[in-house]
Order: sequence, then C-alpha cells, then structure tokens
Amino acid sequence: MTLLHERRRFLLSLAAGVAMSQAPFALARAQSRRASLASTPLPGGLILISGAGGNVVVGHDGEGALMVDGGTADRARDLEMLVLRETGVKRVHTLINTHWHPEQTGSNERLGKAGAKIIAHENTRLWLTVSNPLVGQSGTYGPLPAAARPNATTYANGSLRLGADQVDYGYLLQAHTDGDLYVHFRQANLLVAGDVVCNDGWPVIDWRTGGWIGGMVDGLTKLIALSDATTRIVPGRGPLLTRSDLEVQRTQYATIFERLEALLRQGKGPDEALAENPTKEFNAEQGDPTQFVTLAFESMWGHYAPNA
Ligand SMILES: [Zn+2]
Repeated sequence: MTLLHERRRFLLSLAAGVAMSQAPFALARAQSRRASLASTPLPGGLILISGAGGNVVVGHDGEGALMVDGGTADRARDLEMLVLRETGVKRVHTLINTHWHPEQTGSNERLGKAGAKIIAHENTRLWLTVSNPLVGQSGTYGPLPAAARPNATTYANGSLRLGADQVDYGYLLQAHTDGDLYVHFRQANLLVAGDVVCNDGWPVIDWRTGGWIGGMVDGLTKLIALSDATTRIVPGRGPLLTRSDLEVQRTQYATIFERLEALLRQGKGPDEALAENPTKEFNAEQGDPTQFVTLAFESMWGHYAPNA
C-alpha cells in the first residue's frame, strides 16, 4: 500500500464523521501551523523536521549542518536549536531554498547573518528583493533584507558534497513558482520536492510568481524520472511519498489540466470552469477544490495567447 493510499484511507475516515466542507481542512491547517517541531529520522542519517510551516530536511558533515528549506520566520530560532541538537554540530553552513515562499525562507535572515551559504534559483532571489502578495492569505512577503537573500544562486542545477553523500539540486522550471528547485540526496536516495509536490490536500499554484498547471505536470514528470522504486520523496507539506504516489498525482493533474484547457478554449472563465466540476473524482480525497481550480485555470492565461 502506498503512502498516498494510507492518506486516502485516513481522509475517508475523517469524511465519514464530518460533512465534506472546507471547515475541517482549514482547522487542520491552522492546527498544523501551531504544531510543535517534530523530527523524524530519514535514510542516510538525514532528518525530517515538521511543524515549522513546511517540511525541512537536515543533513550534516564534519563542518556543520545543511538544511533544505527553513520554515517560517517565527520558528527560525527554535528550528536552528533543534537542528544543532539533533545533529550535534555547531552551525548550519548551508541552506537551500526550494522557492521564495515564507514557509521555506523564514530562516534565511537568521542563518544568512550567521554566514550560511544560501542556495536558490536566481528567480527566487529576485522575488525576495521585492514585495509579493501571498496566495490564499492576506498580506505580502518581502523584500527580505540583503543578508537574508540567497547568496549562491543557479539558473539550472548544481551539486555539492555532504560527507559521503552527493547532493544534487536542479530547476523544475515554471511549476509551483518560477524558481522551484528539487534537492536529491543521491546516496540516501531521498528527493526533496518543495511545493511542486503536496501531500496535504490540493497544491497551490502561485501563478503571480510564475507557476502554472502545465508546469506542475512537467515538474512531476521530472521528479518521477529522478526517482526509482525505493526513492523517498519529501513534499512541501505532509508525509513522505513514493514514486508510484507521484505517478498517481501526475495522472490526476494531467487529467485536470486537459479538462481546464478544453474549457479555456471554449472561452470559459474560472467560475464557469468550477461549475463544470473538473476535479469531481478527486474531491473526496483532496478536499474542496475551489482555490486549486481557480488558480490552475488563471495560471493558463499567461501561456495561451488568443487564437493560439
Ligand atoms: Zn510554496
């Protein structure tokens, strides 16, 4: 049984007790934001830390710790202390941002001021130099101070050594944003996907900073190609996944993309697309699709010129 199937069973049992409305999911999200930090051992001596706003993966070598994503700023101090305690090292020498969102870049200022190398896609650095609206929340994020901005950016991919492991990172093009990086711990066979993969309800497509539904499908295709049957995949939110879980997600998003594209070509708008219920067979598992369908539909506008 895959992890996705386990999650589906859990959600179905939840659905049996309550009406399928947004309320239980919104409540669950609010509770997870207040959750205390929890660490879970991963293969290869890596650690998963949850409860910081988004999943954080930690590795270390003789020089210190490496973190993939840094949670929200209000958890940065507690997170760093937990990382140092769990790894037994004195400092975090490297932080990789999978993208610009506050749930991933909240430790940038603290670790950047302490001298950490902050690796990200160049587009992530650029978004962090300005103020951006938050998706599905009120308010804006950024600009971050100079010390908090990525100081080792890439346009494509890169690689570094961490003890005995090789850590590759690479660009997922325009998917969740236009600055998404995956991080692949080769020896541990662990793939960190950022928010291009979600295992906690529908994903968010931040089209205002370059994400789009077609890119989410392509991003999943790339992540599947990087995985084998034993690869563990860390999503931006929620429990770990397997390659077969990603294959299920890719089929799901590709199906929805195809339906939305057809509706767009008929001249429909987001509300009309929602009325067609293009996610009908997935809603019991994923929850209320309103935000997802709206963002996914709007995300196509920049990719389809009139009469294309
Ligand atoms: Zn995100």
